[in-house]
Parts: sequence; C-alpha cells; structure tokens
Amino acid sequence: MSLPDLITQAQAGNARALGRLITHVENSEAAAQTAVQALYAHTGRAHIIGITGPPGSGKSSLVAELAKTMRQDGQRLAIVAVDPSSPFTGGALLGDRVRMQELTADAGIFMRSMASRGSLGGLARATSAVVKILDAVGYQRILIETVGAGQSEVDIAQQAHTTLVIEAPGMGDDVQSIKAGILEIADILVVNKADKPGAQATVKALENMLHLGPLGGTRHHGRITTTAPSTMAEGAWQIPVLPTSALDGTGVAAVAQAIAAHCDHLHTTGEWLVRERQRCQQELEQLLWLRFRAQFAQRVAAAVQEGMLTAVATRTMDPYTAVAKLLEFSEK
Ligand code: GDP
Repeated sequence: MSLPDLITQAQAGNARALGRLITHVENSEAAAQTAVQALYAHTGRAHIIGITGPPGSGKSSLVAELAKTMRQDGQRLAIVAVDPSSPFTGGALLGDRVRMQELTADAGIFMRSMASRGSLGGLARATSAVVKILDAVGYQRILIETVGAGQSEVDIAQQAHTTLVIEAPGMGDDVQSIKAGILEIADILVVNKADKPGAQATVKALENMLHLGPLGGTRHHGRITTTAPSTMAEGAWQIPVLPTSALDGTGVAAVAQAIAAHCDHLHTTGEWLVRERQRCQQELEQLLWLRFRAQFAQRVAAAVQEGMLTAVATRTMDPYTAVAKLLEFSEK
C-alpha cells in the first residue's frame, strides 16, 4: 500500500494501516513529513499526557492500569512507549509486558513502542510525528511513556500537555532519585508502589520539596512564564502528590481524575493555547535549524568548515569572524 493509501486507511480507522504508517514514519523523515503535511489540519484535539520516572518505578504497570481506568468513559486512547536508551527492539517492548497484553483485546486502545535508531533528536521528532498521526486519526488521549529521567525524556515529555512523574518508595536515598529538573516538569506527581513500606514518607518528602519551591507547590517552570500574571494568580495549578499501587489499582482512579482536572485547568486558564504556541515555536525553531544545517552542509564543503574550526581552536581566528566567513561562503 502506498503512503497516501495508508494515510487514508488509518484515518478510516484501520489499525493495521495505522501501524504500518507509523513504521514508515519511524524509518524515514520524508515519510514523517508527508504524513504530517497530510494530517496536520486534523491535529490539535488530543490530550497528550507524558509519563516519566526512573526505571523500575512501575511506569508501564501504572500506564496499563491507567489506560483501563481512562477507557471507562469510552474515549479512544493511544499509548506510545519511548525508550531512548535501548536500540531498536522491533516493537516488542510493550508486547512483552503481561499487563500491556491485557489491553490488546480493547479495540479502542492503540499501543506502540519506539526505540532509538541513532540520534535522540531523530527519536524525539519521530515521536512528535507519531503523536500527531494518532491525534489526527481520532485518539482523544495519548499517553507517552518514557523510560528513565534524563534530558531526552524531558524533551519528549515536553510534547505533552500534562506530565506525570512517577516515583516509588525506597528508590535510592528517599526522593533523591528525582532530579530537580524532573520535578520541574511535573504537573502531577505519583508515588507508585504505595503498598510498600515508606510510601507515605516519600509522599511527605515530595510535598515538602514542592512547598519549599519558589511558588509553593504551584506550577513554576518555563512553560507558564508568558501567562498573564492575573491568570497565574487565580488559576495556578496545585501539583498533587498521589500514592498508587499498580498491583491492585489503588489510587489509579484519583490519578485519572487529576489528569482530567489538569486538562480542564489548561482550558479554563487559557494555558492550553499558551503551551500549544510554545510547542509550535519550539518545533518551528528545530525544523528551521535542521533545514538550515542541511542547506549549509550542501553549500559549504566540510573541509572549509574544518578549516574554520582549526582556525578558531588555534586562536588564529575568533568565532564571530569565523561565523561571518562561513555565512559568506554559504551565500556564494
Ligand atoms: P517501569 O520500569 O517503571 O516501567 O516499571 P514496571 O512497570 O516494569 O515495574 C517494575 C516492577 O515493579 C515489576 O516487577 C512490577 O510488577 C513491580 N510493580 C509495579 N507497580 C507496583 C506496585 O504498585 N507495587 C508493587 N509492590 N510492585 C509494583
């Protein structure tokens, strides 16, 4: 089936065509471009939910439980599991997991795992294209699960409207395993494995960390800085810290409610549009930079670029002059 046919079939609800379309998008940036160009007008409707946290905290177990709970209102749901740390696994990541397997019987749930194929930037771009496709073909909620808690996960989580950070009791020294940067991206904090000893202490420790923060537990990272001060004051989001047990489902309904409440919050405060603009700005800047780099590489020979680098490194030329000269070359 040709790419345009796959797109049409995916839009008509054919899950197999959707799977094949996504494979093309993962394998080729050109296919990603074609698919996004064809479908972009239909995107912007889904609530995108990022889920991150250290390995072993129970993310995939929790995502499976959460998906079951969230499906109760009949809305279609997609799960994208992204693993930047492991090489391509042929999509086996999710299927291997017993809990996830239970979900495959539900036609209203689409699952996909994505792993690194070289560059991290490539993975983030592929994820972004896949999320757009899922949005366009009618998945109203999209869960992006990322493994680990590094910068790449932060980048991917920032594609989300609502970000959950999952922690578990007894992982390292109390809550030390949550790095400051990770705490800052959280809209909802979850302490999973609440059936284990020490969970309540972890909840308390996280609450304390939040209240010691600059805005006392309200959302305070860069994404809201362009919000008008009045909106921030009346509509500041209180980050909840919620205990769950993915083993027996305790607390999962409360997490689903918090996700819905955050979605409402984004809409009522106008922050949804603010974030949308910020995401689009980031995307445009990235694409512009990539396109510029590619054109530049075509126009200025690698040897010339190397020569400039040597000149700057050996202090025979300053970096500003080098850039001016490189741009001159690129315009010739
Ligand atoms: P991930 O690496 O963060 O995706 O974590 P997994 O979902 O693979 O879970 C890691 C391990 O923790 C598995 O053995 C799970 O069965 C277990 N686990 C997950 N959630 C819970 C929970 O709420 N309580 C307990 N006791 N174990 C859990």
